Amino acid sequence: MRILIGEVKDHLDAQVEISGWAQNIRIMSSVLFIEMRDVSGTVQGVLLKKGNEDLFNELKTIPRETIMSITGQAVKSQAKIGYEIQVSQLKTLNKSETPLPLGVIDRIESDIETRLENRFMDLRRPEILSIFKIQSTISNSIRNYFVQKGFIEIHSPKIVAAATEGGTELFPVKYFERNAYLSQSPQLYKEIMMSAGFDKVFEVAPAFRAEEHNTPRHINEFTSIDMEMSFVNDEDVMDVLESIVKTAYQSVSETNGKELEILGVNKPNLNYKFRRITYSEYVKMANEKGIELKDGEDLSTPVLKTVGGAINEFYFITRWPRELKPFYVQPYDEKYSRGFDLQFGELEITSGAQRVHSPEVLINNLKSKGLNPDSFSFYVNAFRYGMPPHAGWAIGLERLTMVLLNISNIRETTLFPRDRTRVTP
Ligand code: ATP
Repeated sequence: MRILIGEVKDHLDAQVEISGWAQNIRIMSSVLFIEMRDVSGTVQGVLLKKGNEDLFNELKTIPRETIMSITGQAVKSQAKIGYEIQVSQLKTLNKSETPLPLGVIDRIESDIETRLENRFMDLRRPEILSIFKIQSTISNSIRNYFVQKGFIEIHSPKIVAAATEGGTELFPVKYFERNAYLSQSPQLYKEIMMSAGFDKVFEVAPAFRAEEHNTPRHINEFTSIDMEMSFVNDEDVMDVLESIVKTAYQSVSETNGKELEILGVNKPNLNYKFRRITYSEYVKMANEKGIELKDGEDLSTPVLKTVGGAINEFYFITRWPRELKPFYVQPYDEKYSRGFDLQFGELEITSGAQRVHSPEVLINNLKSKGLNPDSFSFYVNAFRYGMPPHAGWAIGLERLTMVLLNISNIRETTLFPRDRTRVTP
């Protein structure tokens, strides 16, 4: 029975069978070393020429990355990992072609476009695989958190008739005789679920944004982790968010020691309280740094770089001006809202809010943002017959992974990124 390469260490002095990619073959005059790789790591197989002439000659011509299965005795050795396999049987299961489109073990760095073009090869590199093992830990720990706290997982439609927030960032799709769009966010649906009485919901799903700009932090399809809760306010869901981010960091720290080491990243540790800075305080902080910014203006990228860049940790920006937040965000007073963002340094990770629950306020807000309430009737109707006060947020999985691993380009934390110029592979 095949075992994973990572399990060989538990079978020393026994016969083992492993399968995977032959990533390197080194031939000496009387001995041959074959380095095998699978999802769990690498191990070296050793074959003596004496008594194995045919096999030895066959292996001389095997290209790198060929799929092979090896049987042999696992023994302690001088190899870097402290053990190796003395090969007795070897099967070629599927020969690789040559030359390889991208090296797996070569030290030469390829540019990101070449790597994405050949992503199936790129993903074979242990440091790239490590990013996605860690991302899997993050999303699983967040999912577990929600399930343990009694949230209901939902799956809202991704083909929709109306934009979440109006705006132009929509991909149209032909829906038989009419036009529809790919969903930018499950926002309206998760709010409807509050009216439906589901109390607490979450969703992990793709969100589509037809943003034209190509930046290191935007992609056109990303994974949005959304939540919505009834009978809570903005402060309550900020508490949940802080707790979830800390849980995810803790899980990675406990589960992914090996991957963090491969990536050269320290075990993440978040033993501080996330500061809650109001938008107006943030404006003052910018002014103190010599930036001309009036209360009410949006926080541009240069502002976030200067003020946020100096805060090398997670923090909230709260009480945004109503004008800068969508129609569904609950007012705090005449000028400010109960909308917030979670930031790490200059990067936005999450936006959230207590939401409007009164249908009158909702309709007024829609109108004041230049949107037609009739186009949102499927949503507004849910507010007319018993909608609890509610709040929620959405966190971008790829951005959270960037922050945890200190990666600057979101394409590195996306398996197959969709950006302004790329829809394949
Ligand atoms: P930004 O201002 O950075 O463009 P946004 O305000 O449009 O983001 P929201 O609509 O509030 O973002 O989405 C919530 C979260 O989803 C963001 O905080 C971010 O983590 C993630 N997100 C939004 N747009 C993108 C995108 N184009 N690519 C990757 N992640 C995104």
